[in-house]
Formats: sequence, C-alpha cells, structure tokens
Amino acid sequence: MSEIIMPAACDDNTDISQAETLLSVRNLAVHFRVSHGAWPWQKSTLHAVNGVSFDVRRGETLGLVGESGCGKSTLARALIGLAPVATGSVSWRGEETVAGAGRKLGTLRRDVQMIFQDPLASLDPRMSIGEIVAEPLRTHAPHLGRAEVERRVSTMLERVGLNAQHAARRAHEFSGGQCQRVGIARALIGEPGLVICDEPVSALDVSIQAQIVNLLRDLQRERSLSLLFVAHDLAVVKTISHRVMVMYLGRVMEIGDCRAVYDGARHPYTRALLDAVPVPDPALARLRRGAPLSGEIPSPLNPPSGCAFRTRCPYATDSCAARTPPLLRADSGQPLAACWHPRESGAPPTD
Ligand code: SF4
Repeated sequence: MSEIIMPAACDDNTDISQAETLLSVRNLAVHFRVSHGAWPWQKSTLHAVNGVSFDVRRGETLGLVGESGCGKSTLARALIGLAPVATGSVSWRGEETVAGAGRKLGTLRRDVQMIFQDPLASLDPRMSIGEIVAEPLRTHAPHLGRAEVERRVSTMLERVGLNAQHAARRAHEFSGGQCQRVGIARALIGEPGLVICDEPVSALDVSIQAQIVNLLRDLQRERSLSLLFVAHDLAVVKTISHRVMVMYLGRVMEIGDCRAVYDGARHPYTRALLDAVPVPDPALARLRRGAPLSGEIPSPLNPPSGCAFRTRCPYATDSCAARTPPLLRADSGQPLAACWHPRESGAPPTD
C-alpha cells in the first residue's frame, strides 16, 4: 500500500515553545576506553559524545541528524542508561536520572521507550507478537490481569495498523514495515512520555517510510507524545521534526526550529548536509548555498583541536584550530550555531 507523505512538520504552526520540558540534558559526555595501536593493552579514550546539552518538550519532535559515527545513536542510548555517561546530567520531569540510577533509572525506562533501526532484529524470534507487545506491561504494570493485558495488546496492534488476530504469529511472518509497527506498538503500550526513535525508517522502502512517519505523527498528536527522532536522512527528519539538532564528532554543531535550520542554517556543516540532499529540479540545485562536503569524518580517538569540523571546513581559519566555538545565536529566531565564522542566514557564502 502506498501513501502520500504528510506536509512537513516544519510547516506545523503548533506553538510548543511554552510546553513543559520533559527531558533536560546538560553537558553530557560518553567516553569509551578502547584498545588502540599494536598492543591490546594500549588503551585510548574514544570521545563518542562531548558536552551535549538540549531539552525535549511535551508534544514535540526533536530531530537528531549527522553522518554515521557522529555519536547520535550513542547519545540516544546514553539517555536511557544503555551507554556509560562519563559526565553531565540527564533529568526527566525535573528529576536527575543518570546519576541517581536505580529506581530513578527504572522510572525513566518506563516513561522513555525506544524504537530501533532493524525492526526484525529487535523482535525476539521465540516470542509471539502478542507476547512482545505485552512485555512492557508485564514489567511496568504487573498488577494488570491477563484479560486486561490481552485487551490492551489487541487495541494497540489495531491502532498501529496491524490485525489483532495476528497476535499469535512470530516476527518472521511479517514484512519489515509490519515489524516496525510491532516495535511502535511495544514502545507505546505503556503510555510513555518520550519515544526515542533510532533510525526507525532507514531500513525500510521509501513508501513504507512515509507510512511509518505518518503513523508516528498521528500517535504524537493523539497522545501529546514527545519524540527524539534520530536519522541521517534530512528529508525524512524534515517531515516529522519541530526542532532539529545537528551533531558532528560527538558535538552539537547547530540546533534550532526546523524551519530556521532548513531555510537559514548558519553552520557550514549543516549547509553541506542540506546541500547533499538530492533535489529533482536542476534550477533549485544551482541555488545551493554551501560548499560540498568532502573528506572523511576524523577518528573520535584523535579529534581535531578547536572546532571539530575544521579539517573539512572550507572556511576554517587559525582561530578555528585554537578554540572550540560555543553555540551562539546572532538574532532571535535563528538557530544556535557552534562556529566562529557562521554563514549569514539564508545568504550564499561570500568568502
Ligand atoms: Fe568552519 Fe571555523 Fe566555523 Fe568550524 S568554526 S565550522 S572550522 S568556520
């Protein structure tokens, strides 16, 4: 079944700026000790996430984008305790969670659920679809009786577009898109406040991607759900995000309202990513504003001094190597950009 994708969330005029802040992340860092060099006992520190701060409000989608290896999936996992936090804080509804661990982390895992990239691999092949979807209820609502659990599972399966009669089937009997619907049902059955979607559509065909994105947007509206939508495809992120955060080598390069980022990105990296999105119209392609992205992302074992992007940035100067640029905004309404020489909003580069 094909489906026309809905208008971009960038065009959603719902004002979420006054909504309650659910998730608050401050200066979060995730480091790993890894073997490095010729000798296995030689260990180096891999800086996967470096000093990242952001909020997620009730009912909003924060799109998290960047190339593979930029740390976005590690960041997503660290939020729910699946990656080790070196420094920084994560607060859920105003309560510190990472440092508090134990009971508070348990509360976070009930209120914050995750949807994974590979829908089939994330479903246990030994369990029926009904058992998989019921699992969060059995963990976080053990007081519910069997009949009530089955009723909620049936309702949830139908809500995500599956047939409740198929609850006894196994994951391998379903397509990739159907498996992702099962993953969404499992994530939502416990009525979480936030769902972290880690590349949820990148393994699916384009027409199925549209169906899944539309389903997530419908469920968000129904439930005032917040989404952290991790993806490398900026076209997909634009269809669902209210705000967008761009990461590079474990750091935030730019963050702002979706429309402000897509129409007026100030960071050279964001502009390069946007210019890499294919457009069918050659006239539009000629209006590209940034320099094309070239070279490889440096190793997080040995990141560049100063600005993390400077080894690939055509506008780099000596000052870019000397100091790490903070996230700054030129005017209200513009995105925050971590760049010593940000591009003028909406204008082509002049140097
Ligand atoms: Fe480029 Fe310098 Fe800006 Fe980094 S700080 S993005 S190197 S201009």
